[in-house]
Amino acid sequence: MTRAAFLDRDGTLNREVDFVRSPAELDVLPGAAEALHRLDAAGFRLVVVTNQSGIARGFLGEAGLARIHAVLQQRLGGLPLAWLHCPHHPDVGAGNGYGGACTCRKPAPGLLHQAHDLLGVDFAGSVLIGDSARDLLPARGLPLTTIHVRSGKPVAAERERLRSAGFTPDHEAADLAAAVDWLLAGR
Ligand SMILES: [Mg+2]
Ligand SMILES: [Zn+2]
Repeated sequence: MTRAAFLDRDGTLNREVDFVRSPAELDVLPGAAEALHRLDAAGFRLVVVTNQSGIARGFLGEAGLARIHAVLQQRLGGLPLAWLHCPHHPDVGAGNGYGGACTCRKPAPGLLHQAHDLLGVDFAGSVLIGDSARDLLPARGLPLTTIHVRSGKPVAAERERLRSAGFTPDHEAADLAAAVDWLLAGR
């Protein structure tokens, strides 16, 4: 069995800003790199799952996003190895092929299924960590441990969104480092 740690990007690994359009706008959160290495050492396959509608909006292209992820990965000490993103947005992007409904934009679970199908990771025993309701709701109906981190979007509003969706994460933590502390303490 290959268990995964599915990681949101913005607000979980790097500081939440409206849209990261270049590596200059990347600000790695304190403790994130060390936390990833602890997860890796504990046997989790690390997979970033991130909505990047900046591509549909024309703010950056696939090559620009790949550059951003290469820089972020380097600043995180070479992890995670796998990066999956949704470039779409239902309301924009019609002119450039990234519009319309898709199955990968979170809170849809498509990126998790891509990880399962392409990387061979299992859901049971895996964990999903993110700062927003949209990041966590893809786990609905899947046997994942979910952790809400307070290092990104304003936490009260996200708690309310989770509550109105009828979803209770398994844990809430200050940031990725605290999330990993809790996860690994329970094993
Ligand atoms: Mg986020
Ligand atoms: Zn998509």
